[in-house]
Amino acid sequence: MADEGNGESDGRVTSLVWFRRDLRTHDLPALATAVEQGPVVPCFVFDDRLISIGRFPSAERVGFMLGCLADLRETLEGLGAGLVLRRGDPAKVLAELAAEAGATRVHFTRDVSPWAIQRDVAVAGALEGAGVEVTKHPGNYIVDDPGAIVSGKGTPYTVYSPFAKAWQKVERREMVGQPKAIEMVPGIEAGDLPTCEDLGVGTDPGTTSFEPGETAARKAAKAYLNGGLKRYGELRNNPSGGSSRLSPYIRWGCVSPLELEVKLGLQPGKGPRVFRSELAWREFYAAVIENFPDVVVEEFQERYRGTLDWQADARLLEAWQQGMTGYPLVDAGMRELLADGWMHNRLRMVVASFLTKDLHIDWREGEKWFMERLIDGDMASNNGGWQWVTSVGTDPAPYFQRMFNPMTQQERFDPDGTYVRRWVPELASVPGKKLVRPWLMSDEEQEEAGCIIGRDYPEPVVDHAEERRFAVERYRAAAG
Ligand SMILES: Cc1cc2nc3c(=O)[nH]c(=O)nc-3n(C[C@H](O)[C@H](O)[C@H](O)COP(=O)(O)OP(=O)(O)OC[C@H]3O[C@@H](n4cnc5c(N)ncnc54)[C@H](O)[C@@H]3O)c2cc1C
Repeated sequence: MADEGNGESDGRVTSLVWFRRDLRTHDLPALATAVEQGPVVPCFVFDDRLISIGRFPSAERVGFMLGCLADLRETLEGLGAGLVLRRGDPAKVLAELAAEAGATRVHFTRDVSPWAIQRDVAVAGALEGAGVEVTKHPGNYIVDDPGAIVSGKGTPYTVYSPFAKAWQKVERREMVGQPKAIEMVPGIEAGDLPTCEDLGVGTDPGTTSFEPGETAARKAAKAYLNGGLKRYGELRNNPSGGSSRLSPYIRWGCVSPLELEVKLGLQPGKGPRVFRSELAWREFYAAVIENFPDVVVEEFQERYRGTLDWQADARLLEAWQQGMTGYPLVDAGMRELLADGWMHNRLRMVVASFLTKDLHIDWREGEKWFMERLIDGDMASNNGGWQWVTSVGTDPAPYFQRMFNPMTQQERFDPDGTYVRRWVPELASVPGKKLVRPWLMSDEEQEEAGCIIGRDYPEPVVDHAEERRFAVERYRAAAG
């Protein structure tokens, strides 16, 4: 039953604010609007279909999300409210919670993946059937709806540059502030924050170097915007530092991408400009997944569907997953992912190319492994990135332009070996000149470096030059 004063009797509306991957209080239109209209119940629903039995369950990502929820709860409490936690099918849970709170409206931030869209349709149907109005808001992207950006012919863009040009011209919404205070519907059981074990998604992961939550996100964003950003244009490809490392926060909505863009606009120079163009890639892939939902299961380019002759080799797949390929840069990237739930973009490209064009293993295996490990794992950006490197997706380029040589990449982007030595400690004492090809060390050099190839560190699992030739043949045959 509704408490007195709830519902719409006094012109104010009682609402639920359903948080999903927008775990923040600043610049969140769904929250700001609901708070303006009346009392609210901020809530989050643990949905097993996404968390434990979905396509890509990930203890790493769920662990990070739980940290974000703890921080959100604390911030909301500081504003006079709290965060109500429930578990189940949101269609059912939200209808029940709305009835319990006497809420006649549910606000949430619209999403773009095919699964999320389908869920939201089901939720809206159930709520509206129960007499509860559903209001969707922008907030996950800089523009209100990346998928609505179309060419002069009215068709969605499939190449990044013209998309980015059109995207820049789209009018932005006004930013909204953090509510000064929130009137919360009283008497609703808050529910305890579960663990990964409680949710059936493995054991709680160890900590990563990313502190979860909006509080940490705002600190990190502020520090980067006032510091590293100036040199982003030159240093963003340096795997030991230079990029913002904001992706987990952007993925979980701990920081508003629009707020980032507005702050970038206040700074002159190349760094902010390039940074903004990277944010546009995220919006591009959101538009792709919204307009071409089949990319979640198949290649965007028709000619590569079922034609690429992928090789299923469990031993090679495992060597790649565990960072034991014998190629130092590839292994460093894969071990960073295992240890920290994150990987630098340059490495994501190198290791994805290695899986698909050196080991000839289906990109979907890589997509899955990334989604199971990345705390920033995002259906649209991850799928887009994998299809881009594999040369089967949107923004096409000839396949031989996206064949990364792990040795020259190491020479270029980790010339002093800082990154490789950090993540592959058995190579720590290998002399600089041999760090790119440790298998060429003499027996004495191996002894001296305390790293016997084949015992302490693997021999290369394949020969890059040979596999490159084979990949060219495979792609040529598939392209017809
Ligand atoms: C195979 C592959 C898989 C990827 N999977 C994901 C993923 O699951 N989630 C994810 O957020 N990014 C993914 N990316 C994109 C990119 O690697 C990461 O966004 C980036 O490494 C995050 O580091 P950063 O925050 O320091 O980025 P910065 O260089 O500081 O960029 C700023 C922000 O722009 C966005 N961004 C930058 N580059 C890209 C890009 N190419 N595509 C989409 N958004 C971008 C991110 O939100 C990022 O935080 C993937 C790339 C590849 C090649």
